[in-house]
Amino acid sequence: MTDCLFCKIITKEIPSEIVFQDDRITVFKDINPAAAVHLLIVPNKHIPSVRDMNPGDEEILGALFSAAKRVAEESGIKESGYRLIINNGPDANQEIFHLHMHLLGGEKMKHPMG
Ligand code: 5GP
Ligand code: ZN
Repeated sequence: MTDCLFCKIITKEIPSEIVFQDDRITVFKDINPAAAVHLLIVPNKHIPSVRDMNPGDEEILGALFSAAKRVAEESGIKESGYRLIINNGPDANQEIFHLHMHLLGGEKMKHPMG
């Protein structure tokens, strides 16, 4: 989808700080970080949201988690911990409709449910 910001980041049409990329997944730094480490882990395939996933896309979910584990280790926060968030739809304030997992860490965070 050519008008998708994250598709353009994946193809490097729009610059970003990519920290990992393979044939399935791209990981780049969030432009407006909410923690000391804030990475976005995205499938290279354009899937707008979890609600748009099909059964054949299940492998992509596994690849997202494997990439999260890898970049957390490379960022030096494997032991200190991190939070993985996927916002879906309006009530969760999803802004970019290309499925993405936020990886947040590098500092002590408040519990999101109080
Ligand atoms: P959402 O609210 O959809 O879960 O998260 C979208 C995220 O994308 C936000 O954290 C926002 O800061 C990030 N973002 C928006 N535009 C850009 C951009 O052009 N480059 C990068 N690297 N991140 C972006
Ligand atoms: Zn896209």
